Amino acid sequence: FKVPDIDNEPMRSYGPGSPERKGLEEALAQMEEDMPFEVPCIVNGKPIKSGNVFQQKIPFDHARDLCYYHEANQKIITDAIDGALAAKEEWETLPWNDRAAIFLKAAELASGKYRYKLMAATILGQGKNAWQAEIDAAAELSDFFRFGVKFVEELYSQQPPKNSPGAWKNVFSRVEYRALEGFVLAVSPFNFTAIGGNLPGVPALVGNVVLWKPSPAATYSNYILYQLLEEAGVPPGVIQFVPGPPAEVVAQAISHPLFAGLHFTGSTAIFKKLWKDIAQNLDIYKGYPRIVGETGGKNFHVVHSSADVENAVFQTVRAAFEYQGQKCSALSRLYVSSSVWNAGGFKEKLLEQVARIKVGSPLKFDNFVGPVIHKASFDKILGYIEKAKAADGEILIGGTGDDSVGYFVQPTVILTKDPKSVTMVEEVFGPVLTVYVFEDSDYNSTLDLVDSTSQYALTGSIFASNRKVLVDSTNRLRNAAGNVYYNEKCTGAVVGQQPFGGARGSGTNDKAGSISIFYRFVSARSIKEGF
Ligand code: GLU
Repeated sequence: FKVPDIDNEPMRSYGPGSPERKGLEEALAQMEEDMPFEVPCIVNGKPIKSGNVFQQKIPFDHARDLCYYHEANQKIITDAIDGALAAKEEWETLPWNDRAAIFLKAAELASGKYRYKLMAATILGQGKNAWQAEIDAAAELSDFFRFGVKFVEELYSQQPPKNSPGAWKNVFSRVEYRALEGFVLAVSPFNFTAIGGNLPGVPALVGNVVLWKPSPAATYSNYILYQLLEEAGVPPGVIQFVPGPPAEVVAQAISHPLFAGLHFTGSTAIFKKLWKDIAQNLDIYKGYPRIVGETGGKNFHVVHSSADVENAVFQTVRAAFEYQGQKCSALSRLYVSSSVWNAGGFKEKLLEQVARIKVGSPLKFDNFVGPVIHKASFDKILGYIEKAKAADGEILIGGTGDDSVGYFVQPTVILTKDPKSVTMVEEVFGPVLTVYVFEDSDYNSTLDLVDSTSQYALTGSIFASNRKVLVDSTNRLRNAAGNVYYNEKCTGAVVGQQPFGGARGSGTNDKAGSISIFYRFVSARSIKEGF
């Protein structure tokens, strides 16, 4: 058995009158007609209703609920962990090609039968526009599953370089990559449906059983994702779907002696808390749990005086405002050379393009910026804008929000003279870009500011036409980003092309979308045989 050749899922255009636009519109209309949906927990393949229900609201029309979901309680979580452990042996001893077949089928379902349904749930529930939903719930999700199979094949083929019979005695050595002893807890975020698939998917592909807690703000798309995995053939119990309550699910899971690993994407503060709580429980565990997290970012573009201005502006607008700045990788601090900013026309072009951005419901295809995810986020983002204004921040455009119908924040550009001001340093997670203009002669000291003023190190881009500038800047910013881009926006890493993840406060840098992440969820065993 050899995994077939694979490629990234081709992106569809969704232009007016295209069959894909029609398909998506039909899925959206059907979903709007049928909602609100009821979402149970799923334990051992069976729906369980706790009766403790919460709503997932539509962020661009918060009077309407997309679904109401049953939060897990202590008994449901206990049953889910017990059931997962009971399903473990059969799953991990299933021949690898059967697990591979299941995930290859999951990729086909994600890119085919479930495509528009998952996208519709991502648009309605998470407020993405059609193209952002396509990148995420169709393309990246299928890529995670399809490439995941390829990566695991590669991982399993990693064998000691010398395993052939020795000179004086016949010896055969090999390495076996076993699943971890226990279960893995996957805690997924609202901002990518694809990550909802990848967090339980990665450990499950290498034979682990998983307790999966989706984000409350992505419950419905993640529930559909669960159904997709079930249809693909993931056996009951292997992935247990347990929505909320977040703190309780997680606390109970990490208090179990067979807690073996955490696969997390979310905020830095929560990840740090979990790490500390896990450390507190260390004595009760059978082994040392693997802790894998992708957390916050304070991502940068640096625009050198030699940059192509048109391109740098275009990439900046996309990186800062696509999906309302709610990607971990989103651009939020821009360092631009004064000659480019002024004489080069960067400022004028940037403001002109931002002014043209249409803000509103993602059901209208020409709206580029939609709502932020919920009220707490809306308030936090506007709070940051106020803090910036109270310091030296000059609002060049935007700066306002309206949450009367949905949680809309206008794309905002703030100019600051203080490179350590609050919105240059702290993660905002919204459509807010702060700009610091530096003198051309201060390029290197500006790079030092980029490096030193943030606790994060996720993504960053350098814009320059001068190759030496690109190379020297990358060297100088050695630890400032896990994903560096040259003359390209700092968002949109592609599975199988740019392994994604950062260090410092941004995570454990285990690189989603690459072979590296799979090593974290296996426990290798060396076998030596003499004959
Ligand atoms: N991989 C995504 C990107 O490169 C970001 C993922 C995230 O927000 O966690 O834009």
